[in-house]
Amino acid sequence: MHMGSMAAHDCCANTAWTILRNGIYTLRALVPITMNENVTITYTEPTQGTLIRRQKLLESKYFECTCRRCSDPTELNSYFSAVKCGAHEDLAGNYFPLDPLSHSSAWKCDTCGDIKTVQWIQKVVKDIKEEIDELSGSEDSISSVEKLENMLQANSGIRVHENHFEMLRLENEILQRISYFMSLNNGSNITKNLSTKLADRMIQLSEKCLAVVDMIWPGYNRFRGMLFSYCIIAWFVLNDVIS
Ligand SMILES: [Zn+2]
Ligand SMILES: [Zn+2]
Repeated sequence: MHMGSMAAHDCCANTAWTILRNGIYTLRALVPITMNENVTITYTEPTQGTLIRRQKLLESKYFECTCRRCSDPTELNSYFSAVKCGAHEDLAGNYFPLDPLSHSSAWKCDTCGDIKTVQWIQKVVKDIKEEIDELSGSEDSISSVEKLENMLQANSGIRVHENHFEMLRLENEILQRISYFMSLNNGSNITKNLSTKLADRMIQLSEKCLAVVDMIWPGYNRFRGMLFSYCIIAWFVLNDVIS
């Protein structure tokens, strides 16, 4: 048995595991760990919201997670699962679960106090997820970036909070597409204007995603590394190194 399998689960784990090429199981600290702190790894996908993470942990690992992130309706102030309340013209209201440690808890708007069932919340998120999935499978052209951007504009801060996990997924999809498009064209087939515009957008989106990831999953994790790599690609383009 690996010592690594002794590490307890946390949805905001302080280490991550890797198996090196020589087959050695390695645990890396993602954040500084103090002497009396538990060493934790995550058994689930930190880029999912609490309802989904807790359901998957229950189905596959047979336990109810009660970690700091799961216990907090705002997920460490990130608003990572917050759904918008349609009753406010300024879109100020957000629904949060009354009891985040219950799979069937009702959700309440933090501004007007309106109550919704968990099924209502799940339906809103499922509809958005399906719309993103449909576009994600579409063609690899620059027009697909535009479609994804339109979807982001129609949903972020409108149907769900701008830090919502489905918005993070959507933004990540846009980043992947732009970086793929940039590498295909290598700066040669597109105008300077367009490549500057896309590079600026990559930096803007990466920084926004990094701010969210810093709240839900701090430290030197893979997802954060990917976001930094998008920034680097964009900086290369802006410095005319590629062209
Ligand atoms: Zn948890
Ligand atoms: Zn409200």
